Amino acid sequence: MLNKLSLRLRLTLISVLLLTMCCLGLTLLLNLSASNMANTIEATPLTPAASVGDMLGEIMPPMVVTPSTTSQAARRTFVNESFLYMAFIVAGGGLLTWFITGRGLRPLRELSQQMNNRTVHNLSEELEVPKSNDEVASLTYSFNEMSHKLDEAFSMQKRFAQSAAHELRTPLTVIKTKIEVFRKRPSHTTDEYETLLNTIESHTRRLSILVKDLLDLTSIDAVESEQHISLKDILQNVVDELSTLAASKDIALAFSGEECQVAGNESLLHRVFYNLIENAIKYNQVGGCVNIRLVHKKSQAVISIADTGTGIPKEERELIFEPFYRVDKSRSRQMGGAGLGLATVKAIVDKHKGQILVEDNPGGGSIFTVTI
Ligand code: ADP
Repeated sequence: MLNKLSLRLRLTLISVLLLTMCCLGLTLLLNLSASNMANTIEATPLTPAASVGDMLGEIMPPMVVTPSTTSQAARRTFVNESFLYMAFIVAGGGLLTWFITGRGLRPLRELSQQMNNRTVHNLSEELEVPKSNDEVASLTYSFNEMSHKLDEAFSMQKRFAQSAAHELRTPLTVIKTKIEVFRKRPSHTTDEYETLLNTIESHTRRLSILVKDLLDLTSIDAVESEQHISLKDILQNVVDELSTLAASKDIALAFSGEECQVAGNESLLHRVFYNLIENAIKYNQVGGCVNIRLVHKKSQAVISIADTGTGIPKEERELIFEPFYRVDKSRSRQMGGAGLGLATVKAIVDKHKGQILVEDNPGGGSIFTVTI
């Protein structure tokens, strides 16, 4: 019930309640001690200055005084007035709290108005952080941080949608153009039919790989990742699966590692190492090598994949984890990559609360390190 009221009204009501309790206690105590005092005064025995009995040698009993009507009226007035003043003090205190909280909460109201004016188009504009160094300043700072992250997420989503549309449009345009050109001539040889069908087939294959990769990327969050798995077994399987590809490029694949158990999803982690080792072979030179190492460090598993390939420029090391980003666009496309491999790897590593980073390999090429 109290939660539905504004903060200002709530603070005022709470302070009125506290004030009422304190004032009531004080008024009751004052009334009690005033009444005791009046009783004591009225009970004081009145000793006559000289009485006839004294003179006759008789002992006179002290006179007992009952409260007079004047005294009773005075007591009632005291009680009434004390409660009246108490009500005035409580009302005054309540009003004062209402104005003070109004002033105190003004920066918060202004901040909330500025926050209301935020839309997806002006998320990058920062709110001015007050110099007060109080809660409002820290709230403004946190809001700016959150807007910045949201802005980045929106921009990334936009880039993702644009790149996805572009990737899907390219093969469709090729197929459409080929068919249009084909239709312009009334008759065709069997070879021409064959060429057209091959083109359509290769582009539809590319489209279906792209759609599958996109679906895989978006379905990672829904997968269970609490199995106990051996990283050594996964890496050994991936190395075995990719040994033929490595041999076709005369690349030496070397794996060394200690037994390492982690909690996660086996098929997702298999995909991580498959993508990384496949890239290390794809972007390598003929006769190069790929070294895979698995070690246990501070209760975490560290997997490094070092290649002797083309390497990745420093300024592009963050970008390669974005969907559809390719360092050498035409070369990567030629190799059949949709540019979603590392984005998927990053999403899976994030799901396992791990980290991935890329460095230069001192002997040329790059080293991808995954920590889980
Ligand atoms: P792709 O499907 O194009 O391989 P990825 O997401 O796997 O997409 O990789 C993104 C880009 O990062 C690649 O196009 C390539 O330019 C670069 N890249 C990835 N791994 C390596 C590597 N080991 N050496 C050099 N460049 C790499």
